[in-house]
Amino acid sequence: MGTVHHIGIDIGGTNIVCGLVSEEGTLIHKIKWPTEAAQGGSHVFDRIAAMIDKLLTEANVSRQSVQAVGIGTPGLVDPERGVTEFAGNLRWTNVPVADEVARRSGFPVFIDNDVRMYVYGEAMRGAARGFRHVLGVTLGTGLAAAIVNDGSLYYGGGNLAGELGHIKLEGIPYECGCGGFGCLETMVSGSGIARQAKAKLLAGEPSLLRDWFPDASYDHLTAADVSRAYDAGDPAAIAVMQTTGRLLGQALSYAVTILSPDVVVIGGGGANAGERIMAPMREELKRLVFVKYWERLVITAAEHNDDAGIFGSAWNARQRLLRKEGN
Ligand SMILES: [Zn+2]
Repeated sequence: MGTVHHIGIDIGGTNIVCGLVSEEGTLIHKIKWPTEAAQGGSHVFDRIAAMIDKLLTEANVSRQSVQAVGIGTPGLVDPERGVTEFAGNLRWTNVPVADEVARRSGFPVFIDNDVRMYVYGEAMRGAARGFRHVLGVTLGTGLAAAIVNDGSLYYGGGNLAGELGHIKLEGIPYECGCGGFGCLETMVSGSGIARQAKAKLLAGEPSLLRDWFPDASYDHLTAADVSRAYDAGDPAAIAVMQTTGRLLGQALSYAVTILSPDVVVIGGGGANAGERIMAPMREELKRLVFVKYWERLVITAAEHNDDAGIFGSAWNARQRLLRKEGN
């Protein structure tokens, strides 16, 4: 058998990223298009098929060398049936993504949850490579986790394992998109960091951020702005990052105790805050868990960031195709 490739795709609310990965795990080429989710699922699947063609043409790689396509979508996904059961930001309910893309592209297609694919990518090809028990966490629009054990993803009942962002913790005063109140991700996520800073500004706390948004409209304030203010020594921004890190450490203390991972990988856009949240997170986690966990635990930032989902989906497609073919 000649050269072999797999395609990994990440469907986000804003963009679709499509990457070609070699059997050795090298990302050969990738392209990124707007999702245009508002135009409906059918439109999105047509785009994905067109992206695959474009990807292969630009990389000058033959269709015959591509074994399978893996896709990560947000929301609740049933990988066995290839169905995205619910994805709020795409407005999808029970959408047979795998079949739709397979029919249009002509390739075998395997889908899974995007966070699971991200963490799978980091576990197999990234920062957690070589560790047997991996707990991965992403801070993006929300907060979620995934578990990879000896190279296998852990799904749990209903494929629901890892919804860390919807734990309700004391002192969280926000309604969550899930319908719950006080969910962790309303504060611990990229958007949660921005929300906390905005609340402080609206409460009249002194902050540099006020000078950066002189029209007092904080809707465009991001976690990156909070990081910049933190670096300038702004007390409000420092307090936000410390609260975020501490709450994350608290949630992780339960996860670490149940799972005893060898490594915790932290990724997603909100993780760009880096040590600003990792330092208080570590401190809190150390304080809360049995010392035996702490002594052996490695905590690390994700290596591939935006590309982790591509690696994970491509690897997932490879593994699921092998299983399907009876190996
Ligand atoms: Zn929630």
